[in-house]
This record gives sequence, structure tokens and C-alpha cells, in this order.
Amino acid sequence: MRAKVVSPLAGTIAGATAEAVLRACVHCGMCNATCPTFKLTGDELDGPRGRIYLMKSALEGEAVTRETQLHLDRCLTCRACETTCPSGVEYHRLLDIGRPFVDAQLTRPWRERALRALIRWVTPHADRFAVALALGRLFAPILPATLRAKLPPKAPAQAAAPKPAGGRRMALLAGCVQAAAAPQFNAAATRVFARIGADLAPTPGAGCCGAIDFHLGAADQARALARRNIDAWLGEARAETVVVTASGCAAFIKDYPDLLAADPAYAEKAVRVAALVTDPVEVLAETPPRPVRPPAEPRIAVHEPCTLRHGLKLPGRIETLLAALGYQPQPVRDAHLCCGSAGSYALTQPEFAGALRADKLAALTEHAPAAIFTANIGCWLHLGETAPVPVRHWIEAVDEVT
Ligand code: SF4
Ligand code: SF4
Repeated sequence: MRAKVVSPLAGTIAGATAEAVLRACVHCGMCNATCPTFKLTGDELDGPRGRIYLMKSALEGEAVTRETQLHLDRCLTCRACETTCPSGVEYHRLLDIGRPFVDAQLTRPWRERALRALIRWVTPHADRFAVALALGRLFAPILPATLRAKLPPKAPAQAAAPKPAGGRRMALLAGCVQAAAAPQFNAAATRVFARIGADLAPTPGAGCCGAIDFHLGAADQARALARRNIDAWLGEARAETVVVTASGCAAFIKDYPDLLAADPAYAEKAVRVAALVTDPVEVLAETPPRPVRPPAEPRIAVHEPCTLRHGLKLPGRIETLLAALGYQPQPVRDAHLCCGSAGSYALTQPEFAGALRADKLAALTEHAPAAIFTANIGCWLHLGETAPVPVRHWIEAVDEVT
């Protein structure tokens, strides 16, 4: 598909990227078959091919409307369409350019602006999120049921962190929401890695990856957070590996090169940092921990976040690892479909997110697992709201048997 973007993107790196992505699309529509929102509505404009057309028109200077914005807002950025596309169209790179381009031409209703500002004020800050959680728990009895359901279970007490094994040192992303809501994930990762002779430690100065701000239209703030993380990891810490237990954050950091492509001081550093980031399942596949006891509840289901499956392109890895440790992962139908979490999507598009979660939980519990294991804090929070069985991070399953 030929495309010529207009000002202010004409002649920029972002403009060239958008034109290249658009050129690769042959408009075959195969991607619609695996798009969760197209599956929900059957509307061409709620599928990738339609959204690509909407963005092409906008980038070529045609007028945009709230309708354009709505269909782009409904996209989960799950990237299932990329996995399906036979032409290798990097849809999310186009969306990351097209969505802000459209947003810049429209004013959202005040309710949307207020909700987005509130999410951005609370969630990228672990301390604020912890206060919000504490207040939520305190006032839980008088909260509306929908809000009360959003409160995650309290983190279990954790054993003291293992003594440094004196082995390979790896940086661990502490994150923001996860640090406040589920510190047990990184605690379990630290114990598991100690058993394979690696010392995981958060890097002072590193924090939120920037994904929440970016996906809510605050690209400059996301860039500021990315620069801060890059400085932390490439500075004094000289990290050789950055382990990220939230696949959503890892996938976003892998995109730092696009985010900072126009920044001469950080473009090359962003490429280096993106190469350092790894999901723990990649490390454990190379150096598997030794099981020392059988699982108490072997029958499980694995929910692969889209960011792990389509973003980091690591499908099947968790199931393989857990099966080798004695678990019995049950088959999950339509595993390629998003659960509806998608960062802040569950808050900004609650109807779509709720419908997708209901479908996902039905698929995950079809073979009566004792628990669901996932790899991303957003999926954990979203599925945990209504799941009939416990939802946990897969690294906890590894921790329990090694
Ligand atoms: S994105 Fe890929 S699958 Fe979808 S219409 Fe374009 S070429 Fe076809
Ligand atoms: S990223 Fe996901 S929701 Fe968005 S168009 Fe692609 S498949 Fe559909």
C-alpha cells in the first residue's frame, strides 16, 4: 500500500517508519481472523486492516473524527495481527505513530481526560499505587462491588531474600504497579535465580518502563522514564542483563529504539538496552533449575500474555519449563487471544475488557486447573478480578518446586 505522510511527520524518522509499515501491507485481511476486537464486533474498523486504513488516511492528511479515535482506542496493542500477518507488517509500530497523530488533532471529553490523568498520576508510581491500594482495602466495605473486585489479594509474607550467591549479577526491573501490588513475583524470581547461581538486584534509579504513560498519550513522559532507565542500567550499574518479570514492561523496553529514535543522545543507547532485556523464562530455559519436590497441585493452566507471545515472541516457553518441573499444563483454546487487560485498557475500555476476560477465563478453566499461571502484572490483576481459581505468576510455580 503506497503512502505519503504529511506534516508534521513528513521527512521524520517516525514518518519514514509509518510509510514503510504501510508499504508492507497488501490489504489481504488475514489479520482480522485473529483480532480480538474484530471477533467481538465484526466491524472492519475494529480490526487491524481497518485500523491501518484509518491511520493511513489520517497520516496522509484526511480529517479525523472521534470515530477514528474510538476505533484506535479499542485496539489492545496485543499484536496478534502481527503474528498472523503473512507480509510481516509491524502493526504496533504504525499504531505507536498513528494514535498520537490522531489524538493531537482532537480533544477528548473531560471524563476521558480525567480518567487518563488519574491513571497516569497513580499507576506509574509504586508509592502512590501502594497508598491507593491501602486506601482501597481500608474502605473496601463501602466501595462499589466493581471497584472492590479490582483490589488484588494481599501479598503473602516473603522469606528473607537469599544471600548473594557470588555468581553472575543481573539487574532486575522493580517496576511500578508490580512493586506495590505483587512484590512476591520478584521475590520468587530472586530465590529461583539464586538457585541457578545468579544474583538478581534492582538497579538504583531504574523504575517504571514508561508504557502506561506512552499508551495514554504522554509520549514525552515515557521518553523521560526511558532515558532515566537507560542511564541507570548503562551508567554505574553497567548491567549486562536486565531481567524483567512483567512481560508488558519487557516488550515496551524492547521498543525503546523506536521511542528514542529521534534523540541523538539516546538512540544508540536505546538499542543497547533493548538487547539487554530478557524475560526470566529465557534464562531458565538455558539454565534450568533442579526440581527438588513434586508440585502440590500439578494440574494448571498457563495464560500467555500477548506481550510474551506476540511481543517478545516466546510462545510455549512457560508451559515447556513448567512441564519439565512436574506440572501438567492443560490445553488452552484460543491461546492467541488477549485477556483484555492490555495495560490501562481494562480501565479505559471496560466493556471490551470484561467480554474478553470472560472468554479467556472460560478457555483457561475448561480442563479444571487448580491455578492459572501468567507472566504479566496487568493480566494477573485483570484475570484475578473474576477468576474462579487462584491466578499467580509462573515464577512462583518454579519457586515452589526447586
Ligand atoms: S496487516 Fe498483514 S494480514 Fe493484515 S491486511 Fe495487511 S498484509 Fe494482510
Ligand atoms: S493489536 Fe490486537 S486488537 Fe489491535 S488490531 Fe492487532 S489484533 Fe486487533
